[in-house]
Parts: sequence; structure tokens; C-alpha cells
Amino acid sequence: MQRIPLIAGNWKMHTSLAEARNLAAAVVSVCKGLTDREVMIAPPFTALATVAEVVRGSGVRLAAQNICWEEQGAFTGEIAPGMLRELGCDMAIIGHSERRHIFGESDALVNQRMAGAMRFGITPIFCFGETLAEREGGQTMAVLERQIRAGLADIAVVDPTRLVLAYEPVWAIGTGKTASDHQAQEAHEFVRNLLLEMYEKSIARQIRILYGGSVNSGNVDALLRQPDIDGALVGGAALKVDSFERIIHFRQ
Ligand code: PEP
Repeated sequence: MQRIPLIAGNWKMHTSLAEARNLAAAVVSVCKGLTDREVMIAPPFTALATVAEVVRGSGVRLAAQNICWEEQGAFTGEIAPGMLRELGCDMAIIGHSERRHIFGESDALVNQRMAGAMRFGITPIFCFGETLAEREGGQTMAVLERQIRAGLADIAVVDPTRLVLAYEPVWAIGTGKTASDHQAQEAHEFVRNLLLEMYEKSIARQIRILYGGSVNSGNVDALLRQPDIDGALVGGAALKVDSFERIIHFRQ
């Protein structure tokens, strides 16, 4: 079975309601007729309900930018999985580098979010990646291994389409610096081999690993041509329909 490429747009803390509605409608329009790839968008929480109406029935998937592990309760500022499902949102970005580095989310907290998402049937996009200092210090693979083993600790995978990984080198996010095809493939191959150690082989081979970090219309084709890169997590370039359209229509 082939892994279906996934192009995911992370809108971060951008878009008014009107902008979100228009951007989502434009994404729906450029995705018409696509059958060989999946597209997902993650608007800010405030725009989820609005965007849910726009994407309903279109095949474009909706994700939250974070998720709590509890069903309800005293968790000020958090959003429960059931609240997302009620909106038709069945994916969530977890462990994004901005959550880890600006808001101090630890590997253990990320693991808690992962477990919660899986328990309530939300497909996580589990993000990890090294900082520039870690890369320059030759620690890239050790950091990835630590983040992955900790983030996926006790996470059982029965259906490999319901877990997505995203390698996002911190130094490449929002900086305009992309990992070279070679650097990205090297990391993805390492992650694939780690998954093969952690899960049953037939499952590990089917889990999608996205690349994220300044993906744009000019570099997407070469990145997605790499054998272990199964899609892209896109920030800045997902906010403009022209660039996101070109990324969605990447050529392998
Ligand atoms: C991201 O938000 O995950 C991201 C990769 O951002 P950018 O594409 O802007 O680097």
C-alpha cells in the first residue's frame, strides 16, 4: 500500500474570520478533483467553526493547532478533543516547535496530548525537530530519537493512517532556510528506521512523515521527491492561496 501524500497548512495565529473564510474557500476550490493526495488546513481556534462550514463535504481536512487530553474540566485555555470533533475537526497538530520553545511544552506534555488525541479518535500531526545549535553540535539524530521515543511512548498504532509525523528542524521554521533535500531525507530515513524498531513493520512503513520548514512553491517538488518524505507541513506559504495551490499541486 502506498502512503498518500499529505499537504498540511498551519495558519498559526493569523486570519480574521473573514480572511479565514475566504482562504478556506480558495483552498477548497483549488483542491477540486484531487484524488492522489490529501490536503489539511489548521486555522486558529477562533476560526475553526467558520472554516468547518466552508470545507464540509469538500475532502479538505480540518485540524486544530493543539489539543488537550482530557474530555472536560478545569483546564483554562485548553480545548478538548470532543469539542473539536463536534466541529468536524479530526486532526490536531501536536508538539509544534513554537509550542515547545515559546510555551515550554515538554516531551512529557506532548506525549500526554498525543495519548489524548489518539484516545478520542483525533489524528495527530506529531512534530519534532532539532535546533540549529543541536544540528551544529552533531546531535540531530539523538534529539529526534529522544523526542520521538518520548512523544510516542505508550502510543499504540493500529491504523497507520491515523498517526502523522512531521520533521520540522527548528532553524528552518519561518526563517526562509529550508533543509536541503539530502538533509531532510537523511532525517526522514532515520525516523522511518526508528519507527520500524518501535512498531510492527507493516504499520511503520505506512506512517506518513511530513517535512516542514520554509516549504514553498520553489522547493516543494524536490523535497517531496525524496523517498521518505510523504508530504509537507507549511506555515507562511499556506497563507497565500497562490503559493499553497502550487504546493498542493507538487510534482513528483
Ligand atoms: C510551520 O508552521 O510548521 C512551518 C513549517 O512554518 P514555515 O513554513 O513558515 O516555515
